[in-house]
Amino acid sequence: FAATRTFHSVRSASAGALPPEALPVTAAAYAFSLLASPLPDRPALVDASTGIAVSYPSFLAAVRSLAGGLWSSLGLRPGDVALVVAPSRLDVPVLHFALMSIGAVVSPANPASTPEEYAHQVALSRPVVAFAAPEVAAKLPAHVRSVVLGSDAYERLVSACAGSAPPPMAVKQSDTAAVLYSSGTTGRVRAVAITHRNLIALMCTHSENRKRAAAEATEAGEEPPPPAVTLLPLPLFHVFGFMMVLRSVSMGDTTVLMERFDFGAVLRAIERYRVTLLPAAPPVLVAMIKSEEARRHDLSSLLVIAVGGAPLGREVAERFAAIFPSVQIVQGYGLTESSGAVAGTVRPEESMKYGSAGKLGSRLQAKVVDPATGEALGPGQRGELWIRGPLVMKGTAETVDSDGWLKTGDLCYFNEDGFLYIVDRLKELIKYKGYQVPPAELEHILTSHPGIADAAVIGYPDEDAGQVPMAFIVRQPGLNLTGQQVIDYVAKHVAPYKKVRRVAFVAAIPKSPAGKILRRELVQQAMSMGAS
Ligand code: ATP
Repeated sequence: FAATRTFHSVRSASAGALPPEALPVTAAAYAFSLLASPLPDRPALVDASTGIAVSYPSFLAAVRSLAGGLWSSLGLRPGDVALVVAPSRLDVPVLHFALMSIGAVVSPANPASTPEEYAHQVALSRPVVAFAAPEVAAKLPAHVRSVVLGSDAYERLVSACAGSAPPPMAVKQSDTAAVLYSSGTTGRVRAVAITHRNLIALMCTHSENRKRAAAEATEAGEEPPPPAVTLLPLPLFHVFGFMMVLRSVSMGDTTVLMERFDFGAVLRAIERYRVTLLPAAPPVLVAMIKSEEARRHDLSSLLVIAVGGAPLGREVAERFAAIFPSVQIVQGYGLTESSGAVAGTVRPEESMKYGSAGKLGSRLQAKVVDPATGEALGPGQRGELWIRGPLVMKGTAETVDSDGWLKTGDLCYFNEDGFLYIVDRLKELIKYKGYQVPPAELEHILTSHPGIADAAVIGYPDEDAGQVPMAFIVRQPGLNLTGQQVIDYVAKHVAPYKKVRRVAFVAAIPKSPAGKILRRELVQQAMSMGAS
């Protein structure tokens, strides 16, 4: 991430070498072009539960062969959308790359969704085919042609063109490579069209960052950072996991896949595979701090935890750093609409800025806009974050304006040094008697309490105040915290208008598979339950 420069109220990060836009190249071809020759002699993919590994030569051969089968046997053509609905198994990244390499559009969806949710997604993306894990296929709308992963029909596609590549195709970088779905934390999921150019820009930035880190290490007389062994407990259908695999393959790293998030299995996999990089949502750091189990494993290989998707509280980051001093916390901020991270605390000295989402990534511009007046604001002033640059999706007028600015819907500010601080989503701010209360701030305070294992806050309708902050609390086992103790604890840390005024104890906080609090579900729960 290059240093940011400020031009009045617009921040820009400096540009680097992206391939010319007119060059017809797919994201898959670009990823492979970044790999050194001969191909890396480490696995591209490993299945965490079985230990089965796929080498780089096997991975590339499998992608080429399947791409040929998709083209010649299934008749897929550039622009055709293919839904992929499966847990993170070894064949899924192969399928993603094969689809992208023939210009077909990969559209990964959650295998745990309901038939209604698939119907909504299918209406948005209009797939011509769905590739589904055996346990999912029956939930898909009947009118979509489906191919079951691992079935004989699928295996025929895999092997139909072994050793031969599909014919060259005219795929432009501006063509859609993937249709991803947002997390649906605030409402129904949205479909987001990501282009090959978006993905190429993302890989280009990662490759520049790695080269710069290597050059800096050499200059300091140190060993350059080794290739990463990345453990991916995040789903491949969410922007974070989807992009991590692309990044990892383009850098020649190893990705260890997990079918679903399971904290104990994460700890065991770190130990077994000597994992160096763990992308995770903030609740994973909370669990690592609070769990005794984490102390029982050898986690000494872990160098970096890349945290994103939701706000990471300063307290949590500080406590994590105290317990795991050798692990660098890289915080990243992004949206599905921005193809993932647009800001991050990438450099080691930046990662000590706990609570910040870091500096703007290369080739991006940002401004902070007063949502009421549309006026651009200066450092330290809070407003909506707008971003522009090659990572921003092909937009609709609603989300991307005619000048290319994506309105993120997030309330934020930059400090004088160009560090970004996300306060909360504008939509989720609680309005108490005309004051705005960011739920994320209260959640950070709550999770710092030793008697609280997890917490989430919503606005509860109130006749006098409009809304009052209501906390959902998961108690730490064995500690019998009361609602009044929760209220008093928060009151000690915040101005009176931010006080929690209602408390409910629950067994678990509903989260998306990428670790985000599903606040809309909590609102429904609050309406149907009595709060104490
Ligand atoms: P939906 O829009 O369907 O409700 P969503 O906004 O959660 O879902 P995503 O694209 O997965 O969909 O998430 C992007 C949002 O996640 C951002 O707009 C921001 O609110 C939040 N976010 C991501 N990273 C961070 C971070 N580092 N700090 C704070 N918030 C973050």
